Amino acid sequence: GRDTTYRVNAAPVAAPNGPAVLLTFEDLTDIEEAGKMRRDFVANVSHELKTPLTALMGFVETLRGPARNDSKAQDRFLTIMEREASRMSQLVQDLLSLSRVEEHERVRPTEEVDLVALVASVKQSLEPVAKSSDVIINLDVPETQVQVLGDSNQLRQVLTNLIENGIKYGGAGKSVDVSVSVPLDQPLIRGKGVTIHVTDHGEGIAEHHIPRLTERFYRVDSHRSREVGGTGLGLAIVKHIINRHRGRLRIQSKLGQGTVFSVILPILE
Ligand code: ADP
Repeated sequence: GRDTTYRVNAAPVAAPNGPAVLLTFEDLTDIEEAGKMRRDFVANVSHELKTPLTALMGFVETLRGPARNDSKAQDRFLTIMEREASRMSQLVQDLLSLSRVEEHERVRPTEEVDLVALVASVKQSLEPVAKSSDVIINLDVPETQVQVLGDSNQLRQVLTNLIENGIKYGGAGKSVDVSVSVPLDQPLIRGKGVTIHVTDHGEGIAEHHIPRLTERFYRVDSHRSREVGGTGLGLAIVKHIINRHRGRLRIQSKLGQGTVFSVILPILE
């Protein structure tokens, strides 16, 4: 189990048989854990920002000094600096998304969103990324609209993050398959939701990593993830958005075969 922390308060009170002391116990365990999580988070963010910053400062030095008159080297260094700067910018963007999503997690989304149209639109915006990675995005959706009560921007972000991961970790020459399905028999039955599957055919994820994937900054292989350009926040954002929609995220993976991310959302009633 875990340790429990109490704050004990003693207050003098008047009781029928004379003065007495009232002891109150306040359970601080959750507050302490929240404090530790916040400290870990700040440490992680600082580390993630410091790495590209250190690289940038190193290159500035080099450009001022040894590479001062070497225009070929300057070009090469500027390209790397641009990449490091855009990594920092992506990280800041993801941090802002995460904090916005957390802030509104208790507010029920109220828009009517057609998932079929949304999936098509996300596919369209990711087409250039897919193309440059030699990945094909396949859609398998019903002919009708599939409405859920949601926040369209946030659901767009969920789809974008999952499909982008499918492209990044699925690998060149493979496809990312996206489907939207409603229960066949009675599409609008209470409690049965609509399911979005995002399937890739990449290297897969070992089972023991799966429960931790939605933690902030958790990466299976931090070196490789850094190379493919992730911040480690994408699935944390996805998880919070799905929570807000009272939905569920299921991750199934087979090493060497690929991964299926399933988002199950309550349907509009
Ligand atoms: P990142 O920005 O690093 O991609 P995410 O939060 O989106 O961060 O994902 C966390 C980690 O989960 C990734 O670093 C990667 O190790 C793993 N992961 C996510 N999606 C996939 C996938 N489709 N296939 C294999 N591994 C994945």
